[in-house]
Amino acid sequence: MDPDIMKTLWILFVLLNLDKGYCTKTHDQVLSITPKTQEQVDIVKNVSTQFETVLWQPVSPHFIKEENQVHLFVPANSSTSVKGLLEKNTITYEVLLTKADELMAMQTRDNSTDPRSSSSFYERYHSLEDIYDWINRTIQDSPNTANLILIGSSYEKRPLYALKLSLNNRPNKKAMWIDCGIHAREWIAPAFCLWFVRHALLHYGKNQDITNILDNMDVYILPVMNPDGYLYTWTTDRMWRKNRSISNSSICVGADLNRNFDANWCTVGASHDPCSEIYCGEFPESEPESQAVADFLRSHKDSVQLYFSIHSYSQMLLFPYSCTLDEAENHKDLLEMAKEAVEKIQRYYRNNYKYGAGARTIYLAPGGSDDWAYNLGIKYSFTFELQDRGQYGFLLPPFRISKACNEALTAVKSIALRVIEKTQVARSSV
Ligand SMILES: [Zn+2]
Repeated sequence: MDPDIMKTLWILFVLLNLDKGYCTKTHDQVLSITPKTQEQVDIVKNVSTQFETVLWQPVSPHFIKEENQVHLFVPANSSTSVKGLLEKNTITYEVLLTKADELMAMQTRDNSTDPRSSSSFYERYHSLEDIYDWINRTIQDSPNTANLILIGSSYEKRPLYALKLSLNNRPNKKAMWIDCGIHAREWIAPAFCLWFVRHALLHYGKNQDITNILDNMDVYILPVMNPDGYLYTWTTDRMWRKNRSISNSSICVGADLNRNFDANWCTVGASHDPCSEIYCGEFPESEPESQAVADFLRSHKDSVQLYFSIHSYSQMLLFPYSCTLDEAENHKDLLEMAKEAVEKIQRYYRNNYKYGAGARTIYLAPGGSDDWAYNLGIKYSFTFELQDRGQYGFLLPPFRISKACNEALTAVKSIALRVIEKTQVARSSV
């Protein structure tokens, strides 16, 4: 045989085997599982609790139902047994993410290189330290418009910093509040808070909508409501959801801050079990993070008219109530605003979001911040679930940040403008 051909064949042989070796390496995966019978539901519930897996959707095994998709994060070491068990019981599943571990690595890449002025800063995820640093530089760069407010501290004593964007000192000025990152693993949420601040400071006076909003409202922004949990997702467990408070009665750590508010606290849809992902805490506002937000809103309830809590994933724009199936008193208004916002996203970005009252759109979820803010008197109150619908889930890659944030920005602006309009009409008609 021609020595050149021999050489080519040899290289091909080596490459093929290298490739094989690479493919057989096991990865962390995300499975989409659809149980069809009650028996299969019970098996999937068991899989999600017996094996070292993390439920992405629904948030607790309790909500697993026939014909509803379950998104389950399966670490490499339990992959074979989990899939084996599903196949043995003829339970339908598909692999949503084949190499979740590689995606996780991608999300933290390039974090330290920091030309903050370049737009790419906002198209990456940032560590807690970097976000604190960004907050400091933002108030230094815009001393007349961005102010720092310390609203409290976390369980592990990290500061809870909010920014106040205020472009003028009109008397009786109203305000909106946005909090991000109440759930630690939803990284797109803090990314949105940063995105919003950049947009506001950069485009005030140029973009008509944001100018109109800031002329009429101050904006309070809490970029990371759960700093202990967020840090923990960077250092130890990317899938962590709750805060990091230690319970007296259990070895399990953390409470679900979005079940810890005083709105039908810990009724159906939350859990008293500290090991549950939807553990409501010892009592309403038992957690310093939710208490800090509640205290701030209580003392600013006369000015704050609009409340947003930013989450992911599933692409939904929700409003009260989540803690009861009852309709909110201004349900029609809220529905109209959400519909308009969602239609704008569809028109500009060709992406679909569901909208509606929380309990009727997903499931009962008592103790949430939006319901609590609503009952306090903030009549325009929303929980926003950003991209995506499960293709990447909590591991939305950095290249998707820009579109996800622009979609949310469009909706937030649309709703804020409507609120300004409604409240101005109400004032002028007095
Ligand atoms: Zn969330």
